[in-house]
Amino acid sequence: MPELPEVETVRRGLAPVMEGATIVAVEQRRPDLRFPFPEKFVERLTGRRVESLGRRAKYLTIHLDADPVLICHLGMSGSFRIHAEEAEAMPGVFHHARGEAGPHDHVTFTLETAAGTPAQIVFNDPRRFGFMLFSDMATLSSHTMLAGLGIEPTGNALDGVLLNTLFAGRRTPLKAALLDQRLIAGLGNIYVCEALWRAGLSPRRAAGSITSPNRPTTARTERLATAIREVIADAIAAGGSSLRDYVHADGSPGYFQHSFSAYDREGEACRREGCSGTITRIVQSGRSTFYCPACQR
Ligand SMILES: [Zn+2]
Repeated sequence: MPELPEVETVRRGLAPVMEGATIVAVEQRRPDLRFPFPEKFVERLTGRRVESLGRRAKYLTIHLDADPVLICHLGMSGSFRIHAEEAEAMPGVFHHARGEAGPHDHVTFTLETAAGTPAQIVFNDPRRFGFMLFSDMATLSSHTMLAGLGIEPTGNALDGVLLNTLFAGRRTPLKAALLDQRLIAGLGNIYVCEALWRAGLSPRRAAGSITSPNRPTTARTERLATAIREVIADAIAAGGSSLRDYVHADGSPGYFQHSFSAYDREGEACRREGCSGTITRIVQSGRSTFYCPACQR
């Protein structure tokens, strides 16, 4: 399932082709994905110019020269690919000189790029958990899908001081607090496991236990904030190269094939220098947690 770094990689891949382009035509091949397409989906997008591509948590937001904003979610298996005659290699997106619509190609956007060349952006989603919705620009942040989302895990705003406040008094396990999208938006199971391993913190300890009521920040909240930002940044950086090199036979992208430090390493030796522990799997809130009981306290 695509997590935030994959979505950010897709955004960075699409932006050079889509930004400044005019949407010449839209072909919508189904009435719905996970949700029905918005009414007048084709009509409202045709003729619009793409101003910019944004991202909020795992939502891609395509901003046009007038309403609506197009909100896209990749679901479990969604991907975009670019068909363009002359396109530079860009991470996260695959280039094909020509294309014929495949069985899971649900939407095709035909563009005239800022440079005046033709291009097509195809949305493919075999399992159809992805979706596309409209919002008005003015009310985007209060859209059903985006309202209530917590802070982005990518920027400097996520620091030890903020975690000290967010987690104060929380008895829920650290793992669950990090997965709570109302606190931090877009962190998924894989990167939560990895961040906790990097920070040397147990996923089982109460979130509030790393905070201090008397000080603005603690060594543990500082370590965790840094670990989260670095894990996401590293995944985005790695994503570019791994996506570029990995394409399924049908042309759809393979999502990241990272070498993880904790995730999916049950029974293997901990990779932390000086630690002789073994990565253990436990189930928390119905989901697998991988951690090293020896060095994650
Ligand atoms: Zn260890």
